Amino acid sequence: MTETFQKLDEQRKELDGVRARTEEKAKVLAAEAAEKTARAKDVERELKLEREWRTSLQETSISNVERISQLRQENDQLKQISESYLALQEEHYALKEVCAEQERTLEELGAQLSTAKLATVELREAADNAQRQSQQDGGGGTAWANDRQVTHCKGCNREFNLTRRKHHCRNCGNIFCNACSDNTTSLTGNAKQVRVCDDCYVLLVGRYAVLN
Ligand SMILES: [Zn+2]
Ligand SMILES: [Zn+2]
Repeated sequence: MTETFQKLDEQRKELDGVRARTEEKAKVLAAEAAEKTARAKDVERELKLEREWRTSLQETSISNVERISQLRQENDQLKQISESYLALQEEHYALKEVCAEQERTLEELGAQLSTAKLATVELREAADNAQRQSQQDGGGGTAWANDRQVTHCKGCNREFNLTRRKHHCRNCGNIFCNACSDNTTSLTGNAKQVRVCDDCYVLLVGRYAVLN
């Protein structure tokens, strides 16, 4: 009987040992499981991050493609602007040339006009001289008195000065003050009214009176 108890006790002790070892092993396994779970969570987090990163990379790539096509369009527009600018520049140069040509023509015309004006003045002076000459010839060959040699009025004999100016009688050609020659009449063969001295005026008016 004692032997049976002894055996039972030994069996119980052995069972206790097995249970203790099993419990120990269960603890180790639980720890390992916890560690693996933690690692699995880490990996999952990393995967999530990587997925997010890939998505953002794809978005960046798409936006880059869009930006590139936009830049390409802008580049095309700039090319067109540059081309039309060049065309405008050429047009501008052509117009400038036309303008310069027209300016040269205007200058030439201006020069011709001045020459023509000068010629007109010369012709008028020549015509005046010729008329005067013919008047002198018509007035019995009386010469046009020299302006410089005459110092006194042929009519009143007063001296010429700054206020008493010299005037030619268009009929006799002598030099008078204004008071002695303030008559105008037309001479033969000329409708224009001209200055004549008092004596000539009386003479001419008398002649016309006889004629009329
Ligand atoms: Zn006088
Ligand atoms: Zn006179």
